[in-house]
Order: sequence, then structure tokens, then C-alpha cells
Amino acid sequence: MGEFELIDRYFKFSKTGNGLIVGVGDDCAIMDPTPGMQWVVSSDMLVEGRHFFADVDPFSLGQKSLAVNLSDLAACGAKPRGFTLSLALPTVEESWLEGFSKGLGEMSLRFDCPLVGGDTTKGPLCIGITVMGEVPSGQALLRSGAKAGDDLYVSGTLGEARAALLGIQGELNMSSELLEQLRPRLESPTPRVLLGQKLKGLASAAMDLSDGLSGDLAKMMKASGKRAQVQTDWIRDSRAMGAALQSFSFEERLNLVATGGDDYELLFSAPKSLRHAIDALSSEFQLPLTRVGEVMALDTQIDGLSSEKAINSSLVVFLDAKQQAMELKAQSFDHFS
Ligand SMILES: [Mg+2]
Repeated sequence: MGEFELIDRYFKFSKTGNGLIVGVGDDCAIMDPTPGMQWVVSSDMLVEGRHFFADVDPFSLGQKSLAVNLSDLAACGAKPRGFTLSLALPTVEESWLEGFSKGLGEMSLRFDCPLVGGDTTKGPLCIGITVMGEVPSGQALLRSGAKAGDDLYVSGTLGEARAALLGIQGELNMSSELLEQLRPRLESPTPRVLLGQKLKGLASAAMDLSDGLSGDLAKMMKASGKRAQVQTDWIRDSRAMGAALQSFSFEERLNLVATGGDDYELLFSAPKSLRHAIDALSSEFQLPLTRVGEVMALDTQIDGLSSEKAINSSLVVFLDAKQQAMELKAQSFDHFS
């Protein structure tokens, strides 16, 4: 099968209309910008062996490839407009392409984000997607807007994708039932696209969680010039810790939540005066929006961190129930060793 036949058969699932003037098949796609909106653009690449296993279900992989990109649009509060796909394939395997394009097409349709163009070539399996969206001018949510005194929230549940990965790799002992329960969190995450759009005007800063709460929160604090303290006892019994993880110890769960990654949930800050509005949003979406901590000024003294050096080196501090700083990395976590 030649390149053009392959594109015709598997990657022409999006129709023109809704501002998409010319889609797949011409030299360029042509899209109508909406007056008063700014473009928001993001790219993500998934490489076999590094981001996914060779034997992963192609339908889920198609879904996830677009989902992780849509998650970045969600973090900015943007409405999806379209995406391009650059695909390197070692061989043309029709059953794989069939599954992959169906998963990709399902996610594309679900979030009204048409495939507008791209490229295919022979090579090691690699999926590059660039996603484009729109946001009212000047209203994009950024990482840099967190203010001292703001609450910190996470959407959904954290740690489950990492638990699934460790389960698949045999590094975390779990029943096959639990692994099957957790697997969709790793293989087909749901980008919080509508939530992101609704957070505009409420959240002071936002980002999506792809590398784990601890590291991503540090990135947000660095961009905002602030520090954060996370109350682990708020996480302990909260809905932010996936119910599926209840069979693990609190320390193990906390490690998965804090350092897991691949969550594709939203992390955001918001003024305390908006707690009712955030709760209302949580009810509207039937999705936990859990307050996990607070944004502090950079020079705030934190109990348990005595030396100035320790304070400066840590943009994110996890506090135990007694308000003492916890050393998450120093905790033993047998399953990770
Ligand atoms: Mg991101």
C-alpha cells in the first residue's frame, strides 16, 4: 500500500466545516480563525519503547496519542480546533492501522478536534501530534499566574496510571483484577478539555499533570515565582487518591500520587474566595476537584525545614498531619526498588 492510499484509507476521517476550509489531502490545511480568539498550539511525541509498549492495543494508543495533546490544550483553557499527525511506521500492518486510526478518530470526534493534515514515513514507530486550539484573547490559563494565598487543586484521581505501569512491568504486586481496573488510566486517559475551558476566569494558574504532582507543581511554582505546600493529610482520605489504590499503604499511595506521572489531570490554583465556585464545578462535571494545598510567598518559613538552603531548594513541600515537612524520596517504597 502506498502512502497516499494509506492516508486515504485510514486518515481521512475528519470532514471539513466548522471553520475547517481545507483538510487532509491538499498541500496545506486552511482554517478560519474565530474573531477575538488567539491560537494555542502544542506538540507531543510518543515513541515506541519509551512512551508505550510495542504490544499495546492500537485503538487505545490512537486515543492516547491525541488525548495527551488535548490535555495540554485543556491546561490552557483552550477549545480544540484541529491537529496534525506525523507518523513513522516500520511496516504497513493493516490491522494495527485500522485499530490506531479508529482510536484516533474516536478521540477526534469526541472532542470536536479534526485531523487537518500530516505526514507518514517508514521508520521506527513514532507518533508526533501537533494540536491547535483557540482561547479568547488574553484569557489563556498559564503556569505563571499563581498568587500567594491561593488554594491548590487537582482534578480526578492521581497515581493510578503509574500503578498500572508498575503492575504491567511486574514492579508492583497486584491482582490481575486490580491491574485490569487500573489499565485504562494508563492506556486511555481522558483529557479534561471542558473543565479547562470552565476554569477560565476562576483559576489563577493551571497545567496538566504529565510528570507527577511533585515535579509538575514545582514547575508551576517556578513559573509563578512562588512556593507550594501540600497537605498530605488532605490527600490521605480525599478523592484525589484513587479508590483502586486502597490496598496499598498510605506511604506507597502518596508516592504514586506525588511522583507517579501520566495522570493527565489538571493542576490549578484559585483564590480562596472561589471555593464555592470550584465545588459547583466539581458537581457539574461529577469529577473530584480536590484542594491539596496552598501557594506561599517564596520567602515563607516552613516548619520542619530549618536551613535556608533547604527552603530555597524546595519549591514544593509535602507536610504531614503535624505540619512537619516530609522527605518523600527518602521514604522506603519497596515496590519501586
Ligand atoms: Mg503539559
